[in-house]
Amino acid sequence: MAHKIVRSRRKALFHFEERIVMAKMKVGVVGATGMVGQRFLTLLDNHPYFEVTALAASARSAGQTYAEAVDGRWKMKTPVPDAFRGMKIIDAEDTETMGKLCSFVFCAVNMPKEDTKKLEEKYALAEIPVVSNNSANRWTPDVPMVVPEINPEHLKVIADQRKRLGTKRGFIAVKPNCSIQSYVPALTPLLKYGVKEVVATTYQAISGAGKTFREWPEMIDNVIPFIGGEEEKSEKEPLRVWGKVENGQIVPAKAPLITTQCIRVPVTDGHTAAVFVRFENKPTKEQILADWKNFKGLPQELKLPHAPEQFITYFEEDNRPQAALDRDIYGGMGVCVGRLREDTLFDYKFVGLSHNTLRGAAGGAVLIAELLYRQGYFD
Ligand code: NAP
Repeated sequence: MAHKIVRSRRKALFHFEERIVMAKMKVGVVGATGMVGQRFLTLLDNHPYFEVTALAASARSAGQTYAEAVDGRWKMKTPVPDAFRGMKIIDAEDTETMGKLCSFVFCAVNMPKEDTKKLEEKYALAEIPVVSNNSANRWTPDVPMVVPEINPEHLKVIADQRKRLGTKRGFIAVKPNCSIQSYVPALTPLLKYGVKEVVATTYQAISGAGKTFREWPEMIDNVIPFIGGEEEKSEKEPLRVWGKVENGQIVPAKAPLITTQCIRVPVTDGHTAAVFVRFENKPTKEQILADWKNFKGLPQELKLPHAPEQFITYFEEDNRPQAALDRDIYGGMGVCVGRLREDTLFDYKFVGLSHNTLRGAAGGAVLIAELLYRQGYFD
């Protein structure tokens, strides 16, 4: 197993005292050539817990070096990290080879849902845990769908999932859709006031479709009022995140009632949401602002490498948050909120923003993996 214990002497920082440090855990990225896969690699380059030792993609890319496979389709602002350029791409179906090279995988593939489901289960059954960005398993009752600050307790269904699969190590954990991360974090500390009804309109970046303006010139100077399947996810997934664990399954919350419209806008990264909310017991504006400021979770307590120091940041300025200015807050892992004010029809309205490929995709999955690692789920 990739997980060895080594002794090291941390000279300057730890006053020459001898410490036991864990060797890095070996990880694979399935879908490494895609947009989310590329994000994973930029986040995992020099990660303190994990070391990328296997890259997988479709049979089309298998056998090529990573540099060859992403030539002409590298979408990150920083260059391809040197550590990965010469690595050979493995066929994602080859779980036997992947199992020899790594101890768990991140998965972000563009395949039909049923095929993705089968692929993720194949890894779990091969005793390779999967931390997934895909939607295929988000409604599998014993698969936890987690935002680590919000519902880390859902991870305990992994024990029941392993029983169902008959595995010792293998399991699947997923992150929710990128759109909901622009309003669910802000609503979570307000649930105690009885959130009754929510209207959220999302203004979603083109990277959410895995695209840049070069590949999607029709988006320049344009707004498209449809994103396939997105409104259903945006309305239902929050209820599962706010659900409870009962008899080894996640039972979704029954309230609030959520309605959404999801709109594609000409922005590279960062999903914005305009949100209206009605409560059973209307809080004051000061209470809401204090709840946002004080909202912390396990990632902050454990000081996980990708935990934002402040989960929710409130902007007082009327013209914030702005995607271009604010999406990268805390390395793209923080959530921005602004324009909280009373509404004529609902109780309050506000605007949220989160980085869709960082907090909303690869970064969110890396944070889940950091929590799983610290809680011993990869042992
Ligand atoms: P993408 O850029 O189209 O990349 C797709 C990846 O899947 C590539 O590595 C591709 O490999 C691989 N792939 C395609 N067909 C395959 C097959 N039959 N077997 C194995 N691998 C295959 O897509 P993306 O934007 O990164 O999205 C990936 C997943 O993350 C999707 O499920 C998406 O819904 C989800 N997601 C995306 C975002 C976002 O902001 N973009 C946010 C949240 C979730 P080849 O290069 O070899 O074709």
